[in-house]
Amino acid sequence: MDTEPPSPPDGPHDHPHRAELRSWLADHPEPTGRLLAERGLVAPHWPTPWGLGADPALQLVVDEELRRAGVRRPENTIGIGWAGPTLLHAGTDEQKARYLVPLLAAEEIWCQLFSEPGAGSDLASLTTRAELDGDEWVVRGQKVWTSYAHLAQFGILLARTEPDAPMHQGISYFICPMDAPGITIRPLVDMTGAHTFNEVFLDEVRLPRENLVGERGQGWSLGKVTLANERVSLSGAGALWGMGPTVDDLVATVRSAGGISDPLLRQRLAGVWIEGEILRLLRMRTVAAAVAGTPPGPEASVRKALADEHGQHIMGLARDLAGAAGMLDGTGPVSGSPAPESPVTGHWPDAMWSFGFLFAPALTIGGGTSEVQRNIIAERTLGLPHDPQA
Ligand SMILES: Cc1cc2nc3c(=O)[nH]c(=O)nc-3n(C[C@H](O)[C@H](O)[C@H](O)COP(=O)(O)OP(=O)(O)OC[C@H]3O[C@@H](n4cnc5c(N)ncnc54)[C@H](O)[C@@H]3O)c2cc1C
Repeated sequence: MDTEPPSPPDGPHDHPHRAELRSWLADHPEPTGRLLAERGLVAPHWPTPWGLGADPALQLVVDEELRRAGVRRPENTIGIGWAGPTLLHAGTDEQKARYLVPLLAAEEIWCQLFSEPGAGSDLASLTTRAELDGDEWVVRGQKVWTSYAHLAQFGILLARTEPDAPMHQGISYFICPMDAPGITIRPLVDMTGAHTFNEVFLDEVRLPRENLVGERGQGWSLGKVTLANERVSLSGAGALWGMGPTVDDLVATVRSAGGISDPLLRQRLAGVWIEGEILRLLRMRTVAAAVAGTPPGPEASVRKALADEHGQHIMGLARDLAGAAGMLDGTGPVSGSPAPESPVTGHWPDAMWSFGFLFAPALTIGGGTSEVQRNIIAERTLGLPHDPQA
């Protein structure tokens, strides 16, 4: 574990846009979300005027220069990661002009109204209905697990518009203002104690006709565009869907506390570190392929399936390293007692580790469960037979 792990490739140092970008950031040391959005820096891979139409090399350069300048991008996970790419793909010019800049600037937060009590992995069996009444769609139904619904101004909504069509063809995709009359949002508090997701009831909610995205009945294929972005966005470096600590943080925390005397825990740490290296190499392969202009391989699904379980392994091990104190709130891997800050030089406050342990089971559920990821790998990558029809 003493050798320095390899990092993903740097963007080219002599890239023609690097100097220009560096000087813009020097002139705008604390840019607002709107300024970053209008300069195309929030999602540089999006086409102009919303992005820079950046190839992977320029994307790396933008990331590096923002990091160097200490500038953080606006946060709007579902808006920027999922709603935006779908609107770019199928939205009208009016929809793009109305929604994309405030979405990129995080002035308007978005949520995703897909899952229902009876439709999760099998999303196509959703029963929320939208019926056209004059110039308005009238929506009735219930959604669940809707992250940020209580904070969002808009939601991307899947609803059934052709009840008699085959299951996958009768669904349409809508933009739903979250303050529309008829919407009731009820909090669901998860076991970390946080209120992130909600139940959303839609009772005769009237949406203007122009809130349909793409063609009527095309919602299933648009939902797949959204979810494909979800799989990519959820597989970053941190243990909690790209956020939070990494296994290197855990190793650093253990090292600064003088190492581990228990041989079994030490062996587990080595195993989790090796997993982290495999994931890092998979990520390097994906980035290198993108920089070389090669189409992405099956790494994205494989990475999500591995990364979600890796996150659980990191958080489970951190809890076990804390021993009996790991059962308490706010306990880090080596602190031995609850404390707001780690007494050693870990990169993350102890509360982040105990939160992470409680959050980790969600990793293999949200954005497609582990079992469903494995089905995708089996059927699309390995060419194995489909599930038998029920
Ligand atoms: C933290 C978090 C945030 C979320 N945020 C949102 C959100 O913002 N918007 C939204 O719409 N949804 C959201 N979800 C919901 C999420 O998309 C669903 O939980 C997920 O799709 C699984 O659906 P389900 O919970 O109904 O489980 P089910 O689909 O009922 O699955 C139950 C079990 O059966 C297994 N299973 C199902 N089908 C198969 C199969 N074909 N083969 C093998 N095993 C199978 C599953 O793997 C699972 O173990 C969120 C979930 C989490 C955990």
